[in-house]
Amino acid sequence: MEALQDLLERVRLSESLMNDTSVSSTARIRLETTPDEDWHCLQCGEVLPWTVIPMGGRYLHRREQCRCERETARLVAEVETRELTDRTMRTWARFPVDFRRITFADVRAVRGMERAIQAAKQFAEGFSHSHDRTLIISGEVGCGKTMLAACVGNAIIARRYWVQCLNLVNYLESIRRTWGRSDAAELMPEPPSPDLGLLVLDDLGTQAQAWHHDHLYNIVNRRYMNHQAMLVTTNCRDERELLGCIGQRVLDRLLHRGDWVDITAPSYRMAEYRRRKASK
Ligand SMILES: [Zn+2]
Repeated sequence: MEALQDLLERVRLSESLMNDTSVSSTARIRLETTPDEDWHCLQCGEVLPWTVIPMGGRYLHRREQCRCERETARLVAEVETRELTDRTMRTWARFPVDFRRITFADVRAVRGMERAIQAAKQFAEGFSHSHDRTLIISGEVGCGKTMLAACVGNAIIARRYWVQCLNLVNYLESIRRTWGRSDAAELMPEPPSPDLGLLVLDDLGTQAQAWHHDHLYNIVNRRYMNHQAMLVTTNCRDERELLGCIGQRVLDRLLHRGDWVDITAPSYRMAEYRRRKASK
């Protein structure tokens, strides 16, 4: 009780002094503590000597931080670092902005989606550095494939694995734009980093041209050879259809350690549109 009253008194005193600019820093210290004595923390009890620094006719009193102050500073720095890392990892993952913070708790399990949700959850929960599986999520446009992929990605990012979502349509288009240009090497999009915990290949299957196959093969084969995890979303409904789009070499490597799950639910965008239309 004594200690609390002392503390309140100290706070009251220092507040009134803060507002009084006429008081020199020496006087300020004098009123807060006896200068002949070392400073002692009322919270952790640590006793610390003052260092007196002459400053233009005045004296500045400095001391080291006590145990509880050091601990508070450490915790603040830790939280700041954690938040910064989290933000960086999520931005870097390049999921669509709407999905940057989405989790499984946000997903409404409509009919036809349950199995895919289950498979995605299992994939995320069982994820580790030695995870070498490939999960393929298929379904029609707008059925929630990329959303589920983002749920997996975010769950893994929360456990500090680096994740990147590569939209293949955009990626291959950026490569195509470099053709015939003298500065092609500079404009060429960066291939996915080999250090990624998980690579998401979003929208696989519209890549029917031979040069697409070579680029895809390079990406997929490197991860396959290194036993690294992949998550694929595709509009193709089965292996045969996907084969026609990406070729045998790529398909082989995806399916060898892969699991395929199909979303039979229709487009959620269309479903929302129909609901809105019906309610009018
Ligand atoms: Zn202390």
